[in-house]
Amino acid sequence: MSKYYQQDIETASREEILAIQNEKIAKQVKRVYENVPYYRDLMDKKGVKPEDIHSVEDIQKLPFLTKSDLREAYPYGLLGCDLKDCVRIQSTSGTTGKRVVAFYTQSDVDLWEECCARAIVAAGGSNEDVCQVCYGYGLFTGGPGLNGGSHKVGCLTLPMSSGNTERQIQFMMDLGSTIICCTPSYAAYIGETLAAMGYKPEDNKLKAGIFGAEPWTEEMRQSIQKSLGIKAYDIYGLTEISGPGVAFECEAQTGMHINEDHFYAEVINPETGEVLPEGEKGELVFTCLDKVGFPMLRYRTRDICVLTREKCSCGRTHVKMTKPMGRSDDMLIIRGVNVFPSQIETVLLNEGYTPNYQILVDRVNNSDTLDINVELAPEQFTDKIRDIQAREKALEGAMRSMLGIGPKIHLLAPGSVVRSEGKAVRVIDKRKLHD
Ligand code: ADP
Ligand code: ZN
Repeated sequence: MSKYYQQDIETASREEILAIQNEKIAKQVKRVYENVPYYRDLMDKKGVKPEDIHSVEDIQKLPFLTKSDLREAYPYGLLGCDLKDCVRIQSTSGTTGKRVVAFYTQSDVDLWEECCARAIVAAGGSNEDVCQVCYGYGLFTGGPGLNGGSHKVGCLTLPMSSGNTERQIQFMMDLGSTIICCTPSYAAYIGETLAAMGYKPEDNKLKAGIFGAEPWTEEMRQSIQKSLGIKAYDIYGLTEISGPGVAFECEAQTGMHINEDHFYAEVINPETGEVLPEGEKGELVFTCLDKVGFPMLRYRTRDICVLTREKCSCGRTHVKMTKPMGRSDDMLIIRGVNVFPSQIETVLLNEGYTPNYQILVDRVNNSDTLDINVELAPEQFTDKIRDIQAREKALEGAMRSMLGIGPKIHLLAPGSVVRSEGKAVRVIDKRKLHD
């Protein structure tokens, strides 16, 4: 059983990777300039011609694309080839605002599925595995992406899609699933349901989980690993660039290798657009080096992270990204203080609470309010109001020292926060309704 899906490319030297990227970029920019009038206009406005781009260093000369460009060009304005050459459409889950549609040729689908296959093999997958895919299928990229990757690896694939948790568990037990793919919030729910049905973590055959599509903390990883008895791997991606598998975690579990033979990554200062040196925190920007149907150049993801090239113990050489530290548009500014939902999750799990919570932000008398509903685990539950109040106060204190502002905590009975089968809705910002 190989440790890699495509060993040569996954372990290529820095020089080899650069040579591949340089060879691809000039061709790609020329193709986009010729086929995508919307991007040609942006280049013309910036005074850049395809002839100016010889290597990835020249990428800095190119204009950025943002989500608002995608909305403006919806649906066909950024199509990179004839529609008759496209075989698939996928769409974003619409976490923020209007949906975006992306187009795929057959070669785009193959490339994407190969990236997912790399992720599955990195999590220990092979043709001996039973891979249960419980990301949603359909327009959302999660299900189709991992499904395709699982086929490429040769796993016995269970295309479960999300939902119907008891049936998920029945199939998992009856068919002996060894790998599970879903959002981390759904994985937590499956773990919780297993326990409620009387199963112990060692009763299932799962060995690995591939979880992504939404932010999750290290604390959440520990909690899922324990409840399912597995090793939990992160996977990152976005529809605009292809879907899950743009980057994936290896056995080292210290960040995700970006498939940089296909996707060139930069980190920029989100305020100024300036490219930051490796190791600095900023907004992740991707340039697709091969994609034909929807060839994004310098697409601003709004995800904030750090890139590192430290040698990885797994032998892969591709650059690693940290977990996104929230997207720039996920950041809440509450009474002038920057608050990331991930900070709140970290405090909750460190203080021994469940990952079932919801953050409510509002504005009352011109002042921002922050309320956090947190569900108690069954063993924490009590009907002694005094005990609950003391716990709430303690948790408010822990939050205040992490966030710099004090929220109002509401501890709730087990089962009162709605569970997620896909991407969890963690934040309800009611201020937006007043604007
Ligand atoms: P939408 O923008 O509608 O959510 P997608 O479904 O394509 O569209 O989601 C892509 C976004 O999901 C990414 O830009 C990122 O913010 C988030 N995401 C994906 N994978 C991860 C991950 N492993 N960790 C944190 N966030 C992730
Ligand atoms: Zn690695």
